[in-house]
Amino acid sequence: MKYASYWHQTLGDAPTAEHIANGQDVPATCDVAIVGAGLTGLSAARALAKRGVRATVLEAQEVGWGASSRNGGMVLTGLKVGAHELVERFGMEIARKLDAASLAAIDFVERLIEEEHIDCDFSRSGHIALASKPGHYAQFERDAELINGSFDRSVKLVPQQSLASEVGSGAYFGGLVDEASAGVNPAKLVLGVARAAVNAGALVCVHNPVLAIDRKNGKFHIRACSSMLSAEHVVIATGAYTGPESQWLRRRIVPIGSYVIATEALPDQLARAVAPAKRMMFDSKHFLHYYRLTSDQRVLFGGRASFVPESSSATEQSAEVLRADMIALFPQLSDVKIDYAWGGTIDFTADMLPHAGEIAGTYYAAGYAGHGVALATLLGSQIGAQVAGDTYVDSPFMRSTFPVPALGIHRMVPGLVSAAGAWYRLLDMVS
Ligand SMILES: Cc1cc2nc3c(=O)[nH]c(=O)nc-3n(C[C@H](O)[C@H](O)[C@H](O)COP(=O)(O)OP(=O)(O)OC[C@H]3O[C@@H](n4cnc5c(N)ncnc54)[C@H](O)[C@@H]3O)c2cc1C
Repeated sequence: MKYASYWHQTLGDAPTAEHIANGQDVPATCDVAIVGAGLTGLSAARALAKRGVRATVLEAQEVGWGASSRNGGMVLTGLKVGAHELVERFGMEIARKLDAASLAAIDFVERLIEEEHIDCDFSRSGHIALASKPGHYAQFERDAELINGSFDRSVKLVPQQSLASEVGSGAYFGGLVDEASAGVNPAKLVLGVARAAVNAGALVCVHNPVLAIDRKNGKFHIRACSSMLSAEHVVIATGAYTGPESQWLRRRIVPIGSYVIATEALPDQLARAVAPAKRMMFDSKHFLHYYRLTSDQRVLFGGRASFVPESSSATEQSAEVLRADMIALFPQLSDVKIDYAWGGTIDFTADMLPHAGEIAGTYYAAGYAGHGVALATLLGSQIGAQVAGDTYVDSPFMRSTFPVPALGIHRMVPGLVSAAGAWYRLLDMVS
């Protein structure tokens, strides 16, 4: 088994991130400095460069090094917060807007892929949420009524007795399908967005960690490794990896480790036995499992096996836990080899919703809570448009206040995140 992302090896002979990143030398000035070359930062850079704005992306590692190239590649409708909770918290009008933004994000990604000719296995395969308990299916029934009756999308209930056409596991009590969701190869997507940003005129400077950002006389001065960059505006696009260079955002993001394994490529019959409808799949637990087939018929199986930001020891332990969980759900996979195991960090927020906007002249978009493939691409582009100032951007994620989780003490008390993990495990047992 390789402790590395399966997606990275699919890049094969495609131009590497290093080739795409054209600006190893940081210029002295630009209009907009963007920190972080994930989907948020690169999509913002593309939007800015297409408007003739001089945008420079500074990335600590390589293009797409963060969550953007390591995720499950599920391009999902809806948000981490369920439909009923959205209505309870915000009322019907805003709940509908928040949900509609998730659909607009998928449409945006699909259009971008077409426009920029990005070869990344995007396919509208749909997703199915799977009820881990009978009570969770009852909640799916209520969700279906609300979504089909009041939101701009339609979902289909799959009762337990019909589940065999969707998933080759006897562990579930029914499902909820949304055909509008899609699957993608995220490493190819983020590289494609980088190429599009560079083609539009943006600079992408890799191996350039931003150490400090100061504002003097209305200009931003960004210290990156051994260089200084002055800019009119700054976009912070560092997601779960946000560090002390942006304390304001860092206090608002709860970084949670998520881990993934990928099996060897399966023969047709076995792949069909696991995922007959080839959908993106996830269960209804707090500590959820998500899984799918890749284009070469591996099972990619992920979960929050460790509730702390990723590390190599956590990746090794998680690979064992995830393999055992996968076999418990799919005994037909017990003899299948695991080829890859890796981890990444997800950016959660106190209210489990993304937030984008501007604070004291600094722009940001973050907090996608496991729904960032589409939303980071859309919000990055919208933040770019907002900085350029030539487009009115109407996003429900730009209007809300961005709460600090539990006084931000998760940053000072590392054990707190593990305690939260234990709490969610308990909830999974009792709810
Ligand atoms: C294991 C896993 C599975 C997931 N599965 C899904 C899924 O199936 N579907 C879905 O929609 N979402 C999923 N997500 C979430 C999704 O991947 C993220 O929400 C999204 O990629 C966030 O993009 P981003 O550009 O904001 O951040 P990132 O892609 O994390 O990029 C941030 C970048 O900032 C850089 N950086 C940080 N600090 C500095 C600094 N000081 N100077 C310079 N650069 C810096 C980092 O190196 C990093 O490259 C998953 C995430 C993980 C980790």
